[in-house]
Amino acid sequence: MDFFSKKARGIAPYTAGEQLRDKTYIKLNTNENPYPPSPRVKEVLERFPAEDLRLYPRPDADLLRQAIAEREGVSPENVFCGNGSDEVLALSFPAFFDPDGAGACFADITYSFYEVFAAFFGIPTRIVPLLADFTFDLDALRRTDCQGYYIANPNAPTGIGIGRETLEQFAVSVPDRIVILDEAYMDFFGESCVSLIGRCPNVLVVKTFSKSYALAGIRCGYAIGDRALIAALLRMKDCFNSYPVDGVAQAVCTAAVQDTAYYSAVTQNVVSERKRVQNALRDMGFTVPESASNFLFAGRAKAGGKEIYTRLKEAGVLVRFWDKPVLRDFVRITVGTAEQNDALLRQLKEILS
Ligand SMILES: *Cc1c(COP(=O)(O)O)cnc(C)c1O
Repeated sequence: MDFFSKKARGIAPYTAGEQLRDKTYIKLNTNENPYPPSPRVKEVLERFPAEDLRLYPRPDADLLRQAIAEREGVSPENVFCGNGSDEVLALSFPAFFDPDGAGACFADITYSFYEVFAAFFGIPTRIVPLLADFTFDLDALRRTDCQGYYIANPNAPTGIGIGRETLEQFAVSVPDRIVILDEAYMDFFGESCVSLIGRCPNVLVVKTFSKSYALAGIRCGYAIGDRALIAALLRMKDCFNSYPVDGVAQAVCTAAVQDTAYYSAVTQNVVSERKRVQNALRDMGFTVPESASNFLFAGRAKAGGKEIYTRLKEAGVLVRFWDKPVLRDFVRITVGTAEQNDALLRQLKEILS
């Protein structure tokens, strides 16, 4: 007797990237930012009044929501904060999809958590294959009967981005379905659909502090959408965890979101290194789709994904590999600092020679 429910026994949980601590790896496997967070984050942490931890945090993260709203050009009523964008995405399933409804539609190659959440909440799924060049088949998505969509833009693990106008046309063409845009990597692309809020009541944009804000250790993410959509998320939150964003996270993220100068410089560095590494990988014979994110999807070279992943790991460089059809020909490589990228490229040259 293991006391497992049928759900606990049957479900296949999401597998996160390795967080190895056994030696100092060059860690290019979970799309963290290679640069530290804003110096203001350190100041906030040093000044944070420990005695305040006695009290519960602000349940609706109002100061943080206000700071995010200012940064994003919306009003605080359009913002919902959660304990990482994974939690925001999780709550969106019961908020917008029914177990006996037409289902949640997403691509076959995309963020694999969508499938796990759908299974966890008992929501049916409609899976639409990407096209041969790894771009979304938006016409096929439109034709698929469903309650709504999850579109990661830029997509993971391909890194490919979809322009704002294309997504606006898509959202307008499916007015009765919710379009959830997972913009975890959007700051590296600059085509956010937040500006559609107010015009497209069916669009919900989900963002995170984990990637461009270099705060994966803090666990904070948010959604932006019409008030009605935010209200649905709040109802779900209050059925699960009234205080999802702790007080330290609220203070840290409020400071971070206000330091636009620092973060635009950091993002610029990542974007220019991305271009350099992408070109170098192509010169080595890798197929690399044009990346709009902070990682590169590289494959179809002289060695398969598993061999590259394994040999890089032996050499102290961690990248991400999935032993699944199509994906197993590729690895996903996070863009690091110039020195980290040089080390990666050096090792790859050796592996392929
Ligand atoms: C990293 C990532 C997230 C999750 O971010 P957290 O805020 O750390 O939970 C969500 N979606 C995609 C596509 C991601 O890559």
